[in-house]
Amino acid sequence: MEMILCKLGEVILKGLNRRSFEDKLISNLRRRVSKSGNFRIYSKQSTIYVEPVSDDCDLDAAFAACRQVFGVIAVSRALPCAKDVQAILATAKTYLHDELSTAKSFKVESKRADKSFPLTSIQLSQQVGGALHQAFPNLEVNVHDPELTVFLEVRDDAAFVHGPAVPGAGGLPLGMGGTAVTLLSGGIDSPVSSWMMAKRGVTLEPVHFFSPPYTSEAAKDKVMQLARELTPWCGRMRLQIVPFTEIQEEIRRKVPEDFFTLVMRRFMMRLAERCAEEIRAKSIITGECLGQVASQTMEALRCTEDVVSLPVLRPLIGMDKEEIVRISRKIGTFDTSILPYEDCCTVFTPRHPKTKPHLDEVREVEAALDVEALCNRAMDGREFVRIKL
Ligand code: ATP
Ligand code: MG
Repeated sequence: MEMILCKLGEVILKGLNRRSFEDKLISNLRRRVSKSGNFRIYSKQSTIYVEPVSDDCDLDAAFAACRQVFGVIAVSRALPCAKDVQAILATAKTYLHDELSTAKSFKVESKRADKSFPLTSIQLSQQVGGALHQAFPNLEVNVHDPELTVFLEVRDDAAFVHGPAVPGAGGLPLGMGGTAVTLLSGGIDSPVSSWMMAKRGVTLEPVHFFSPPYTSEAAKDKVMQLARELTPWCGRMRLQIVPFTEIQEEIRRKVPEDFFTLVMRRFMMRLAERCAEEIRAKSIITGECLGQVASQTMEALRCTEDVVSLPVLRPLIGMDKEEIVRISRKIGTFDTSILPYEDCCTVFTPRHPKTKPHLDEVREVEAALDVEALCNRAMDGREFVRIKL
């Protein structure tokens, strides 16, 4: 029966930790393909085999799922056959018929784990390659830069013909990088920043600040939808929705207008850190990007970071909007992100925000607020939403 092969990425560089990375990756794969049927999953030589156990497995769905599992750099399918040159050739001809008839150049690469097989891997490649060359006149042999590489593998139990490999998600297995709180708005950037850290193995706890009635239920639904769209990559998550209206109204009443955004962002960071402490998360992720808006100058970032001690991870900091949009499309959040919505940030936007704030000034204007009490009430008013696949 046809099966799926997942090629390990950086996991293989992990030396002594390799075992635990591999185990994590296998359990992540197992969870992701379990919806598509019953599979046997095991690893051998930098490859994880995902093998259907029953006839009712949905291999297409499982294949798509494997491509979204971090830690896998390439995914292909393979068809087992008898360990005999004629059977291997016949299988390659039918299984790879479309690729073989359209490619201009090719080569055959073989791997032989079963040393009792009568041909060496070089001999096997030559024999099968020669016969395919005859059967498909469109093909030229090119061992250096072929358009198509036909992979053959002779193992103890069977021989395998591999289909073409497609890129996997890359990165490191989810769960190997600890846990972080990620600030999730309804914009384009924060789903991308969340995804990028998940790609480095970080488990996410998204936090959203919500300001009814200035922001609508639809804006909240949008954030839940974005979180849902991240789950095929990031796994199931718990979204924390933090009421932010009182804080913003208090800022508007007591803080000079040009400091609105900065003070508001300092509150976001404080609350994020409190959420992080509760679940022992080790950092805070934001979608900030240098120079994108007034609150994202280096001076402004320093002022917002001032109120927390956890590291603030900003994976988009040096990226152009274009690159961010490209990732957003690739991961499937773009269409939702561009739906119209109000964010609490945009509701009280000052006409002339400070772009080069001084820390002392910000601390001084903030002294007019009862920071502790405001944060306590916001924390108490939180809503928790389970986001599932
Ligand atoms: P995004 O596209 O992610 O909304 P942005 O370019 O609009 O980002 P800002 O509005 O300044 O930039 O927000 C910067 C970052 O602060 C966001 O990427 C997000 O991580 C966080 N953030 C902003 N608003 C909220 C919110 N309402 N709830 C949670 N996090 C938020
Ligand atoms: Mg925004």
